[in-house]
Amino acid sequence: MTNCKRGHLHPITQIIQEINTIFYALGFEVAYGPEIESEYYNFDALNIPKNHPARGMQDTFWVKNKENTVMRTHTSNVQIRYMENNKPPLRIIVPGKVFRNEATDATHETQFYQLEGFMVDEVTTLGTLKGVLKIFLEKFFNKKIDIRFRPSFFPFVEPGIEVDISCFKCGGKGCSICKNSGFIEALGAGMIHPNVLKNVKIDSEKYQGFAFGVGIDRLGMLKYGIDDVRLFYSGDLRFIQQF
Ligand SMILES: [Zn+2]
Repeated sequence: MTNCKRGHLHPITQIIQEINTIFYALGFEVAYGPEIESEYYNFDALNIPKNHPARGMQDTFWVKNKENTVMRTHTSNVQIRYMENNKPPLRIIVPGKVFRNEATDATHETQFYQLEGFMVDEVTTLGTLKGVLKIFLEKFFNKKIDIRFRPSFFPFVEPGIEVDISCFKCGGKGCSICKNSGFIEALGAGMIHPNVLKNVKIDSEKYQGFAFGVGIDRLGMLKYGIDDVRLFYSGDLRFIQQF
């Protein structure tokens, strides 16, 4: 009996708890939803058209013998489910497991954790998003961080943006983590597309909102300098016990 060792929370769980605590302080609530999801909540309601590559067999796990059902590819399904049942103002984060049908390597797994966040109110802008993300990322990495928006495209937002953060390792001077650019690609975001608001019967003339999505595994890898995402799921105690 003397060899019994007490376990502790998995690093991913610890990271999620840390994220939740930061967003609670900003007035956000945590919501959850199903991992096996209908095509409607995973794609259609989010303005992802029938011909989008994500809807192909090669990118998504479709559930056998159950029509129009997928392993959710993002936690954005909960954005729709939550907005159907709640009226603005809304400030929500959705941490959870997501699934992609792709080859695994040091930066890709078939399952990983995503954090979806969204806010809907009468005056919500990209400026609000920038402020919220800056507070979150600075608290999470415990460093001063600059944020850069670049235009991008995601079907469920308009406009869509990629969010880069100044390299917390070298402070922007250039290093191996930021590939000498001084910035690190951190997450995707944008203003919720009016079609998405229409799908959940929220008046897009009166309300606007932002949404963002970020890999929780990726945030953990950046924060702790982990170079292989598969370590999180390996069950290797030499890794786990470092947390
Ligand atoms: Zn750097």
